[in-house]
Amino acid sequence: MKMCSLVFGPVHSRRLGLSLGINNVPYKHCSYSCVYCQLGATTKLTIKRRRFCSVGELVEAVTDALRREVDVDYVSFVPDGEPTLDADLKLKIRMIRERTSKPVAVLTNASLLWMESVRDSLNEADLVSIKIDAAAEEPWRRVNRPHRSLRLDEVIDGIIRFSDSYSGELITETTLVRGLNDSLWNIEALSGVVAEVKPKAVYIMPPVRPPAEPWVKPPSEEDLAVAHGVISKSVKCEVRLLSSLEPPPPSIDDPLRYLLATLSVHPLEFSYAVELLRRTLSDPLATLKDLEGRGLIRMVDYEGRRFIVLGRASLHRLQ
Ligand code: SF4
Repeated sequence: MKMCSLVFGPVHSRRLGLSLGINNVPYKHCSYSCVYCQLGATTKLTIKRRRFCSVGELVEAVTDALRREVDVDYVSFVPDGEPTLDADLKLKIRMIRERTSKPVAVLTNASLLWMESVRDSLNEADLVSIKIDAAAEEPWRRVNRPHRSLRLDEVIDGIIRFSDSYSGELITETTLVRGLNDSLWNIEALSGVVAEVKPKAVYIMPPVRPPAEPWVKPPSEEDLAVAHGVISKSVKCEVRLLSSLEPPPPSIDDPLRYLLATLSVHPLEFSYAVELLRRTLSDPLATLKDLEGRGLIRMVDYEGRRFIVLGRASLHRLQ
């Protein structure tokens, strides 16, 4: 079964509803190596923009998928790495918007917004979600583990410059990790940046799925509530705390395909996966055991819950 393609899903997202995903950069090519990344460790830490998949091939794959999946809310650039590393991003967004009626979203770590070409590319999108986990050097380095040539002041300056010129829907997301970036002084500093960005919505989240580093812990509920309060006071928009996992969507044609597509984006809780597969399979546990035996998936426990993640054989295909 194919685990990775230019287009995957649709998958259910807490911020975008039902979204057709676009995988425009290779697995774990990223400018950050976040400790909480649910895709695993960054294998190619880079800030060099370059061409990956062909524009025509990708646009054709999207239009093809939309003939089958008419109900999606967004077409989203949400690859297994950083989407703005793709030098053809601008053209890809523009062509998808010209050829389809769906809004285009890009979920970016925002670390390359100091580059004019990246701001220019993202200006084409209907919605951009930017990551702001820290506004001070130490928490930024500890949580996001950036490429050595990135500078935080330039990253923040790029974020502000982009937000000043962008006319689409801008949202921010902040992931808080216990002991790394959940201190009050970092929350106050980052809420100042978030306020300056004037987003349409702010999302705060603890790591809820197995992270790249197994020692990563979510902040306490009390600290999350404090962070929510501090950020809410400094912005004029809705601030949402996403601290639970979303259940599988109510209807899917092919739950096994959905399961594998979702796993290429993030781990899935075991009980959700069983519930999902039961819709079409009489013995979902046997199917999961078979996939595990073939190395396509594996089980990982995190914060008292069991998750399914991609197995060695799947990762091998992605790399
Ligand atoms: S969470 Fe996003 S930005 Fe961070 S390492 Fe993973 S893919 Fe890169």
